[in-house]
Amino acid sequence: CGIIGYVGGRKAAPILLNGLKRLEYRGYDSAGLVTVNKTGARRYRVVGRVQNLDKLVKGLDLSMPCGIAHTRWATHGKPTEANAHPHTDDTQQFYVAHNGIIENHEKLRTQLEAEGVHFRTETDTEVIVQLIAKFFETNLETAVEDALKHLEGTFGIAAVSSADPMKIVAARRGSPVIIGVGKDEMFVASDVSALVQYTDQVIYMEDNELAVLTPGEYQMLSFDHKPIQRETLQIDWKV
Ligand code: GLU
Repeated sequence: CGIIGYVGGRKAAPILLNGLKRLEYRGYDSAGLVTVNKTGARRYRVVGRVQNLDKLVKGLDLSMPCGIAHTRWATHGKPTEANAHPHTDDTQQFYVAHNGIIENHEKLRTQLEAEGVHFRTETDTEVIVQLIAKFFETNLETAVEDALKHLEGTFGIAAVSSADPMKIVAARRGSPVIIGVGKDEMFVASDVSALVQYTDQVIYMEDNELAVLTPGEYQMLSFDHKPIQRETLQIDWKV
């Protein structure tokens, strides 16, 4: 339902929580966030209000400068904590927040299970992150590209990994994704209202586009890794 992501010089968690609050008006049944650095990841998820997530993380040392968060409107799998995004793979190095529906998730799950992958959720989304983990070699964007080749259905996704930290990879097919460009920091969101308090420089991603975000740079690519030139758009929106 709602996605927000941050990579830059600040602590990601407060920015993610703020973004989730801005996305609340869309409705949701559960919420979660993950922050990563090269030593690992910290993930927190709750059923119900973003406020519950806020309470859960209060007082915790959440200093990692890269992360993603999600408000979920369940389509596949009950609205439980285990089914709340961001989802992870068996190695718990890769994390994905997803809006949309993966139509061929059952077939992909059966194939992955036959290869020994252990699924932890009832969601259609989990196949995405398990595929990313399967294809990962040295960089997250190539793994995401390889995973996307297998997906049928609709998605707006944001992915992060402790194996390639200080980077967010976003992709879109049929579900809105917007990049926010800051000064030495980048944002991603499913709705511009989550970005306006941080930057007025945005890029509305188009279908079949991938974005690689690092603190100082954004790179737009087609799903077959061709660079796409895209200037930012200045939004005029009073917060
Ligand atoms: N289909 C996914 C799920 O049920 C994503 C739902 C959403 O867009 O929030 O978890």
